[in-house]
Amino acid sequence: MRIGVLALQGDFSEHIAMLRRLQVDVVQVRLPEHLEQLDGLIIPGGESTTIGKLAVDFGLIEPLRQFGAHKAIWGTCAGAIFLSRDARRPQPLLELMDITVERNAFGRQIASFEVDLVVPELQLVDPSAQPYHAVFIRAPLIETVRGEARVLAQLDNGRIVAARQRHLLATSFHPELTDDDRFHRLFLHMASEVRQPRAAPV
Ligand code: GLN
Repeated sequence: MRIGVLALQGDFSEHIAMLRRLQVDVVQVRLPEHLEQLDGLIIPGGESTTIGKLAVDFGLIEPLRQFGAHKAIWGTCAGAIFLSRDARRPQPLLELMDITVERNAFGRQIASFEVDLVVPELQLVDPSAQPYHAVFIRAPLIETVRGEARVLAQLDNGRIVAARQRHLLATSFHPELTDDDRFHRLFLHMASEVRQPRAAPV
């Protein structure tokens, strides 16, 4: 399995460290040609406007859209914003996931916080069903989930913080900043599903 991490800005090195821990072959993606031969791509947290502008400058927007049409992509925090169809303000977006996000939705008072979440989808990789301890840093909320996108996790007040659309994954929080590798394993599972599509029924 070979996974790319978009390395334009943000906390890409933490994702790389987690993937290496899981014995995955990792490629830093800065140019379109770095997408060749990858089974999936992670877009890290950081500043979504900066990631978007750099992606425009490096000619990555269309190659990333084409990649995401067939292959697994996971965006954490700023990466989730960049994956979305709508961030309610003008900034470069991949528009791959049918979600609307609200940036910096928690305001200044609680810009960063941690909370336990129930994430049934993680049982695909770990049957224990332990709550997931999520770290939020100037995080977005996922306001709406449409079409083929579905909700994976919500706060107690019902606000959405993780969603999946077939081979695309968005989380408002930062699994790469914890020791819990279940989200990375879920993403590897999604990437391997795309890599070995189930045989079509005869
Ligand atoms: N606030 C950032 C943005 O809007 C995201 C923060 C993060 O990735 N931790 O792009």
